Amino acid sequence: MLLSRVRGSLVAAVVADCIGAKFEFSRFVNIDKVLNAVKKLEQNRTTMKKKVAEGKKEKQGDVLSFTDDTAMARSIAASLIEHKDVNVRDIGARFAKEFEKEPSRGYGGSVITVLRALADQDLEDVFQPAREQFDGSGSYGNGGGMRIAPLGLFCHQLPLQELKEKTVSVTKLTHTHPYAIVGTLLESYAVHLALSLDNSKPLDTDNFLGQLLERLRPTEKEIYDQRRQMKSKEKNSGDESEEEGIEGLPYCNKVELIRDFLKRDVDSKEVRKKLGTKVTALDSIPTAVYCFLRGASQSIPGTEERGPVEQTIIYAISLGGDTDTVATMAAAISGAFYGLESVPQAWQESCEGVRDALLFGEKLTEIISAREVKS
Ligand SMILES: [Mg+2]
Repeated sequence: MLLSRVRGSLVAAVVADCIGAKFEFSRFVNIDKVLNAVKKLEQNRTTMKKKVAEGKKEKQGDVLSFTDDTAMARSIAASLIEHKDVNVRDIGARFAKEFEKEPSRGYGGSVITVLRALADQDLEDVFQPAREQFDGSGSYGNGGGMRIAPLGLFCHQLPLQELKEKTVSVTKLTHTHPYAIVGTLLESYAVHLALSLDNSKPLDTDNFLGQLLERLRPTEKEIYDQRRQMKSKEKNSGDESEEEGIEGLPYCNKVELIRDFLKRDVDSKEVRKKLGTKVTALDSIPTAVYCFLRGASQSIPGTEERGPVEQTIIYAISLGGDTDTVATMAAAISGAFYGLESVPQAWQESCEGVRDALLFGEKLTEIISAREVKS
């Protein structure tokens, strides 16, 4: 059912962010450590419920907090629900307001400058603050990808061209480097694709990668070509800014590498080295796609008795690095395929923001369904 899958994507993303946040940038993470953490969380819930059933008064129990990833995704979801379309000015204003309200959610240093600028309601060009970052080359962090899932869901059954244009404009509010844009597109394409596939049979990972590449290849080329044209225009007008050259199609190459990884037993070290777990988009967003597919093929040692969404989240966090963001992106794709029922109840009850995610999921589904009836 569509409702379960839209909610599944949003809720899985929130719990992955909350659980992953505990491990962010810690140097020694592994499957066992993550498994211990989730088992503890599950035991706490069981104990709490038992006490309540025995009539003992029990507090809510510990609730894990979400980070900037969820804070920004919520802004996008809320804006899409209110405007029933992408309204970049409104999304930018919501990002700024959210940051102002709760600045300690773990926002990256450079995006803070942009968020402060976006708070200015008289700002003529909302893309300007992001464009001016890093001497005009823009950020290539993963901040576009970590928050884009609600848009991938919102665009269900809309033409790909629309998904592409909307994703690019939402990304450019904070990230204008082509690597950030293509990475965000990879994530929104993956969420959108996962939601559209028949989930009554096991996921065909090879087919998923094939369809993803079919979408990504022309897009990646187009985004880099546009950038080159823009830069050569600037050069002619004497307004050139320094930029390292972009060669080939690095995202497509990484997606090809995922295909190879799925065919053999790859250890975490190789995944970290070749796909990456950093804050840069190119070194984290393809990794999220891999974590989704690896969880879907149920090949993560020590997690055999768990479902694919759980496996994906546990595995993504176990890689270390930017754990909350890689996990949240992977979970958003996985939840869109497997649905809400595959996110353990104990996890849902232990994480902040799940109730809102359920509500956002319901409203987004209403919008998508109304559109389907019309067409
Ligand atoms: Mg974060």
